[in-house]
Amino acid sequence: MTGWSRDKTWREECGVFAAVGVPHAAAVVGLGLHALQHRGQESSGLVSCDERGEFHSHKGIGLVSEVYDDAILAELPGQLAVGHNRYSTTGSLTLENTQPLRVVYRGGPLALAHNGNLVNARELRQGLEGSGSIFQTTLDTEIFLHLMALSTAEGPEEGLVEAAQQVRGAFSLVVLTRDAVLALRDPHGFRPLCIGRLGDGYVVASETCALDLVAAEFVRDVEPGEMVRIDPKGLRSRRVMPAATPARHCIFEHIYFSRPDSRVFGETVDRVRRRIGHRLAEEHPVGADLVIAVPDSSNSIALGFSERSGIRFELGLIRNHYVGRTFIQPHQGERDSTVRVKFNPVHEVLRGERVVLVDDSIVRGTTSRKLVRMIRRAGAREVHFRVGSPPVTHPCFYGIDTPSRRELIGAVKTVEEIREFLGADSLGYLSHQGLLACERDGGRFCSACFTGHYPVAVDPSASKLALETLHRTTSAGPAS
Ligand code: AMP
Repeated sequence: MTGWSRDKTWREECGVFAAVGVPHAAAVVGLGLHALQHRGQESSGLVSCDERGEFHSHKGIGLVSEVYDDAILAELPGQLAVGHNRYSTTGSLTLENTQPLRVVYRGGPLALAHNGNLVNARELRQGLEGSGSIFQTTLDTEIFLHLMALSTAEGPEEGLVEAAQQVRGAFSLVVLTRDAVLALRDPHGFRPLCIGRLGDGYVVASETCALDLVAAEFVRDVEPGEMVRIDPKGLRSRRVMPAATPARHCIFEHIYFSRPDSRVFGETVDRVRRRIGHRLAEEHPVGADLVIAVPDSSNSIALGFSERSGIRFELGLIRNHYVGRTFIQPHQGERDSTVRVKFNPVHEVLRGERVVLVDDSIVRGTTSRKLVRMIRRAGAREVHFRVGSPPVTHPCFYGIDTPSRRELIGAVKTVEEIREFLGADSLGYLSHQGLLACERDGGRFCSACFTGHYPVAVDPSASKLALETLHRTTSAGPAS
């Protein structure tokens, strides 16, 4: 993963976690959120419900380890809790925009955490504001709460079903009510969501790596279109929307986002990435002395490339893991300094060698270009760039924050022009067909970022800040 937390406009998405029927659920959620840190580093929030049905919450800007400590978690009692890590995909960074969103409505208190992006948020919000709704955030997530409040259905469970039937796009949700956690996934299953068993209770998480940390046993994924209600007595499942056939899981979760130790969409991510590496080596063979990864997200792909090509894998780039939100700005004007804050080459490994540099994706091309230059300066004789996905040509509207088309190098340059821009001796992208062949049943994935075939219709003019602009133009005050 080489994306910067601050100086790039495309960003990671979110992670959700819930615990039900376990002693001190908030502590379990805190751990779960820690394991999901890679899915969002901007802010984190946690809401618990105690035995009397009272809600307690804490949220903050920063990493999980910065937001919570034992004393804070001790103030969040109860056997039910939900939490969220955020990296803004809709709306900008404010504490108000930190999830879970907590409200009290006629159905009682509620806290809702959402991973994904709604594609009809703008029109829904315009309609809701037109009939008097007052929004507190610039998040598409808040629309669920307003739709629930307007629903005539009995209780939060039915209200959530009605709300979910009106929104379009990607949503993996965990919702805390007074007596249960509801977990719901959109009909396409864009984002992952899984259930684990922990003692007498359950946990729900974006990825299985979070189950591992809390020592929960993987039970199954929440199915597309399914709502699961979990209370201290057990789990009840309902299909609330017909599942799309085929499903449209986000293929970029397998390529880049999820952790390799997670089981996502029925497969361990490391296994998919190995196959991507194998296929990449078959599609774009090259004579070279060593294979290196852009750590960490392309490690498994580079290992796969090495396995299939027989070219030895080396650690040629070392990543500094402590580049958090508040990293020290390099001196202005220093060449390639932004990449040097995060990566350093191992000169002795690279000097005089013909190097295959493997990355999972090229988005704008700017990081990749700096890395090629860095590796050359470290003395590599040749640099052959290999990419574990096809050119990213279209923005994502379902929860991965990619820049607009004109900023996507794959949309505006040919492969040869990109090679030239990167300064690489050769460049090979995995073909789209090859990528799908690396998946078990490639037909069940969304790969709109590589094809422009959006499974749920999107408004191409919609931007990440769509709701903020809407807020500015339809209300007197600034977004709050
Ligand atoms: P660039 O081509 O310079 O835009 O950067 C490509 C690098 O960004 C690759 O190493 C990817 O692992 C990483 N990357 C891809 N998508 C994202 C994303 N949405 N957020 C952060 N980093 C990303």
